[in-house]
Amino acid sequence: MEDSPPSRRRLLWGATGAAGTALTAVGLPRLMRPEEKVKAAPPRPVRKTPAPAPPASPRPDRSVDYAPAFWVEACESNYMPSDRPEAYPINYVVIHLTTDVFPIMLAMFKDPTERVSAHYMISATGTRIAQCVRERDVAWHSGNVWYNHRSIGIEHEGWIDQPEYTDGMYETSAVLTATICAKYDVPVDRDHIVGHIEVPLSTHEDPGPSWNWNKYMRLVETARRRIGA
Ligand SMILES: [Zn+2]
Repeated sequence: MEDSPPSRRRLLWGATGAAGTALTAVGLPRLMRPEEKVKAAPPRPVRKTPAPAPPASPRPDRSVDYAPAFWVEACESNYMPSDRPEAYPINYVVIHLTTDVFPIMLAMFKDPTERVSAHYMISATGTRIAQCVRERDVAWHSGNVWYNHRSIGIEHEGWIDQPEYTDGMYETSAVLTATICAKYDVPVDRDHIVGHIEVPLSTHEDPGPSWNWNKYMRLVETARRRIGA
């Protein structure tokens, strides 16, 4: 903006220079009156700058830590937000049996009065995996605060008194457990992959005596080898 009057002045001088002093003496002082300078410099059109791009969106809410899973978020009253493994190391995988059907369990995790949750839930056929709590957060699944802080809880759709556990469920669960073990450097053994009943102070009996630990651990070991270092 400040350049406009001088520019105009330069143009005038350039245009009238050849005309000699007559025009300079008569015309120029009138042309250079301040009020005319204002008129002579119409406001520049305001250049519309594009609106700044919105900040990069955070991780979509529906993303999961384990790709085959789908996200069904537990009520925030049913778990503790954390920053694992920085806040607490993840040293255990705890195996559960739901003793209720898949949708009822998912609804229970969404109910703020229940005060329970698990990171994952696997359907009886092994065809569906729901993630309800992020691995970095602390799910309330084992009845033992120390273990909750340091474990991933996996629920399996099934009943202790009707032990009909499918190969599909074992296999799906084994690959998930092996993936967790690989990610957090959890040893694949029965000291670190435990049943709910084995958690100290637990009042639950799942996954029950019919859960085939030998078969399950073999599947986990195989999957762990396949994943590699
Ligand atoms: Zn349990």
